[in-house]
Amino acid sequence: MKLTFATNNPNKLKEVQSKLSNFEIVSLKELGITEDIPETGVTLDENALIKARYLYEIYKVDCFADDTGLEIQSLNNEPGVYSARYAGEEKSSDKNMDLVLSKLAGKENRKARFRTVIALIQDGKETLMEGIVEGTIIETKTGKDGFGYDPIFMPNGFDITFAQMDMETKNRISHRGLAIDKLAGCLR
Ligand code: IMP
Repeated sequence: MKLTFATNNPNKLKEVQSKLSNFEIVSLKELGITEDIPETGVTLDENALIKARYLYEIYKVDCFADDTGLEIQSLNNEPGVYSARYAGEEKSSDKNMDLVLSKLAGKENRKARFRTVIALIQDGKETLMEGIVEGTIIETKTGKDGFGYDPIFMPNGFDITFAQMDMETKNRISHRGLAIDKLAGCLR
């Protein structure tokens, strides 16, 4: 069965394909869409729905889209839906992490979580599901793997950051991995 994923991110595609092996996952590129679909919502739910509806309305295909945010407790859940461009439009992970670290300087509560929302449209029916991983923002960037805020996020129950973790372990416990598990359950 074919399912279109509203992404051009090859890492996400690989991750999704490994957990949804019964499905043929089609990317935006394969539909001839090379630019990102604009994310104009103010919540993760809205952005995931905007992207999935965009595809469904044009192509009438079963599809899903995801949106992720890092929510830091003592920063009123910032950067949240603005995680990609927290420090500016250039979407620099280094600058984003520097901004988080400077805003957290001197704060005792460094609890944070990653939250992914997936919007699925199948036979015209919309379903939302989420995956959450709780953790802590550590004081200095540590580790070389992964992307985004991985070097400063240490998931609960581990003494390493996401950027020090092998991909298989991260995919098993991560926000996106958990949301994809729910998607797989929903599709069965
Ligand atoms: P997106 O909605 O998946 O594109 O995620 C928005 C932003 O959240 C990304 O640009 C990253 O900065 C951050 N982000 C999403 N997923 C992860 C992750 O697994 N690790 C670290 N940062 C992430």
